[in-house]
This record gives sequence, structure tokens and C-alpha cells, in this order.
Amino acid sequence: MTATIVDGKEIAAAILGEVEKSVAGAVSAGGRRPHLAIVVADDPAALSYTKSLQKKGENVGVEVTVEKAAAARGPGIAVLSALADDPAVDAVILQRPFIDRSVDGELSDLISPTKDVDGQSSASLGALWAGRPCFPASTAAAAVLILEHYDVQIEGAEAVVVGRSTVVGKPAAALLLNRHATVTICHTRTKELAGVCKRADIVIAAAGRAGLVTGDMVKPGAAVIDCGYNFLDDGTVVGDAVFDEVAEVAALTNKAVGGVGPITTAILLKHVAGAAVPTEVESF
Ligand code: NAP
Repeated sequence: MTATIVDGKEIAAAILGEVEKSVAGAVSAGGRRPHLAIVVADDPAALSYTKSLQKKGENVGVEVTVEKAAAARGPGIAVLSALADDPAVDAVILQRPFIDRSVDGELSDLISPTKDVDGQSSASLGALWAGRPCFPASTAAAAVLILEHYDVQIEGAEAVVVGRSTVVGKPAAALLLNRHATVTICHTRTKELAGVCKRADIVIAAAGRAGLVTGDMVKPGAAVIDCGYNFLDDGTVVGDAVFDEVAEVAALTNKAVGGVGPITTAILLKHVAGAAVPTEVESF
């Protein structure tokens, strides 16, 4: 194995340590705890993720409340509109899946940009592409933070993002472009995916397809950040890349478990702390 393997847990712990310190500092200076509201429907996976996020938030002093809503457009609009107007709420997430992809997108636009800590709204995504202050989607931010943490040269690099969702692919591409990479975005209609990936110094895999990126698609020495989190029939979790093959060729890569996921959560909570202190919103 030639690649350095990303230690997502260690990076996440460092971020969470910073968040805990900044929240404690703000509270001891007389402020209140940052408050994240998560809107969630009756979906088992979404509820389980929400519970885990609530626990992690509480661990670093962030107040996390869960707003259960019936999975229908009307209740979704009502709860998100109320949260947008609630001055006691600093940050809002619409936990997906809520209804379906298109309605979830429409509902996300009710999250005000200053509370949109997971870059879910069109306004946040637009701001990201425009290089304006915003909170980018945390998984995309995690992928790029990994590159920076391991000193991967982004400026001038050929970067390929496999996937064009608003959750991972598009924001990851914007973050790389804003850091002066030359970015190609691939999707299901891309011809010659293997050839496109093979040219890349950086590959961000975000397709949700187990085994999509194989070792022979990777340029020796490239950084391959695998955002994929796919369940096999036996319950095993794997990424989009074939880990053992890619780790033989790449200079840096990650496992599906303990890679991007913990950093995503840590960044999300960092955004929540930032939303409570609006001057901390950064340009990306
Ligand atoms: P998504 O909405 O389903 O989007 C997948 C994207 O990949 C689409 O743009 C699709 O292209 C493209 N794609 C699918 N199959 C492809 C193929 N064979 N060749 C090229 N492109 C292909 O998924 P997502 O929400 O972005 O999530 C992507 C992955 O990241 C999933 O495994 C998800 O579980 C994981 N994820 C992880 C975290 C975390 O915290 N670790 C968070 C979010 C997501 P089209 O647009 O043409 O359909």
C-alpha cells in the first residue's frame, strides 16, 4: 500500500475541540449556546442520523432540537418558515430524505442563508459558486478540508469530481474551483469516465456507486477522496472507490468508514457555532 490513509476521526476530534472551546468562550462571555434545529420526517435512517448529531452537538455545547414534521409539503413549509423567523434558532437543517428530491429542494430554499449551515438552499449554492460568504455543504467541505489537511496542492491541479448532486458533487466542484483547481464534473452521461479520472491529480468520488473507481482509473500519486457511503447486501459499508486497489496507486485516500463522515459532522457543528456569531461566516 502506498497511500496515506485519511484519519477522519482525528481530524474531526480537532475540529470538535475547537468548536467546544469557542462555544464555551462565548457562553462564559454571557452569550447563549448556539442552537441548531433539525427538521426530520418519520424516516428511520434520518431519525437515527439526527439522534447521533444531537448527541455530538450536545457534547460540544451546541443545543440541538429536533422538529418532527409530517412528510408533506404543507407541514414542511410551516415548520421551516417558523424556524426562519425564530430568533432563538441560529441554524436549520432539513434532514433528507424528507419527502422526495424535488420537494426537498424546494423546502430547502425556505432556510435563510445565515441559518443554512449545510449549504442546502439554492441561495447558499449560488453564493458558493459566486465566491461569496456562505456555509458550503459540509460533506463537500470535508472532502476539501482533507486535501488541505494533508497539504495536497489544489491550485493548478486537475481535479475530477464524480457526481453532480447539490449535496456533494456541485459544492465540492465549486470549492475546488474557488481554490484555483481546473475542475471536471462527471455524471452518468460522462463518456470515458476512466480516462477522465486517470488524468486527475485529485479525484472526489461522490456517486453513491460501490466499486465505481478502480485502481486502474487512478493516476499514480493522485489524491482520491471517497465520499461514497454504500451498503452492500451483507450490511458492509464501502465507498465508491475500490479501496485496496486505489490505496496501491494513490498518494492519499480514505476508507468509507472513519473518513469523510466524522469530518462532515464536525464541520456542520463548526458551521452552527459560526451561524451564532455571524461575523464568522467565511468566503469560500
Ligand atoms: P446522489 O444525489 O445520488 O448523486 C449521485 C451523483 O453521482 C449523480 O450526479 C449521478 O449522476 C452520479 N453518478 C451515479 N452513478 C454514476 C456513474 N456510474 N458514473 C458517473 N456518475 C455517476 O448522491 P449524493 O447525495 O451526492 O451522495 C453521493 C455519495 O456520497 C453517496 O454514497 C452518499 O451516501 C455519500 N454521502 C456521504 C456523506 C457523508 O457524510 N459521508 C454525506 C452525503 C453523501 P446523474 O446526475 O447523471 O444522475
